[in-house]
Amino acid sequence: MSRYDWMEDARCAQVDPDLWHPDGIGSGYGSARRICQGCPVQQQCAEFAQQTEGDLSHSHRHGLWGGQLPRQRAGTGSQGTGFYAKRRQQILRLAANGDMDAYQIAQHVGVDVRTVWRVTAANRKQMGKAA
Ligand code: SF4
Repeated sequence: MSRYDWMEDARCAQVDPDLWHPDGIGSGYGSARRICQGCPVQQQCAEFAQQTEGDLSHSHRHGLWGGQLPRQRAGTGSQGTGFYAKRRQQILRLAANGDMDAYQIAQHVGVDVRTVWRVTAANRKQMGKAA
């Protein structure tokens, strides 16, 4: 059983994914939130987002996960994220070293390669905004 099996039941997989990432021009999260409320894997989705995003601030979180806005997830992110924050730092440290590719980092840390991509992409956005 894969840790991603729950995604097969995700309601958002059946409609336009842009609803979960509105561009802010005349659109919001309303439609996506209504769909999330009826999603059978909302809890798994929220937990996955918390694990993946770790201790990121709300400005570095993107989209709606588990029916929660970025600022809502940031508000719950401080609970039990020590492990994930450390894992995130480990991923970033290994990526910065440049000795391993994403697949090797994923294997070394014990995560899926998508987690590595997501953590490093979020960090690039964070660094880009800080520059
Ligand atoms: S709860 Fe998560 S998996 Fe379900 S529709 Fe919302 S974003 Fe998709």
